Amino acid sequence: MKEVMAEVLFSPEAIAARVKELGAQISKDYEGKELVVVGVLKGSLLFMADLIREIKTPLRYDLIAVSSYGASTSSSGIVRIIKDIDVSIENEHVLVIEDIVDTGLTLRYLITTLSSRQPASLKSCVLLDKPSRRKIEITPDYNGFVIPDRFVVGYGLDFAQRYRQLPMIAVLKPEVYSAEKNGEKEGN
Ligand code: 5GP
Repeated sequence: MKEVMAEVLFSPEAIAARVKELGAQISKDYEGKELVVVGVLKGSLLFMADLIREIKTPLRYDLIAVSSYGASTSSSGIVRIIKDIDVSIENEHVLVIEDIVDTGLTLRYLITTLSSRQPASLKSCVLLDKPSRRKIEITPDYNGFVIPDRFVVGYGLDFAQRYRQLPMIAVLKPEVYSAEKNGEKEGN
């Protein structure tokens, strides 16, 4: 799959080291508490799987899937839940795990929706932050890496559902993603 990559931004080793640091920070911040980790499908799956193994406090996890309408490499802001979590988060300490925060619209929707369920606390942890594209002001509580305005794939992130299995985070060659297709984008 090397031929589709323009550049590797983060190697598997760099990702693992950062995930370890995030896990240590989260373990410290939630010491003595139990967490409910909510992973956002599908992009956060690999990140969540690695991160929870670095978290030392007790936790339960669940998964949520959202869908946004619009071009596949940008968000329109219309978000809806297509698979909700099964557990109640009332009075629970909740940590939402997202792959990337770009315009911020998906994360804001998730935070607004989940906070209406009265959790004891609600924080977000994202693997990647692309602050230059923000449409609304939102800062994740935990953040793996800040990246420039490039479309990235790998380590769970896709283009047209492909490249999620790449162990690194990479930028695709422009010719691969310039053929944007419109329509409903499911599963983030
Ligand atoms: P936001 O609502 O913050 O604009 O977008 C969040 C979603 O957009 C992410 O969960 C992700 O699915 C998608 N997204 C934004 N930037 C990228 C990117 O560089 N690569 C990939 N694969 N998805 C992205």
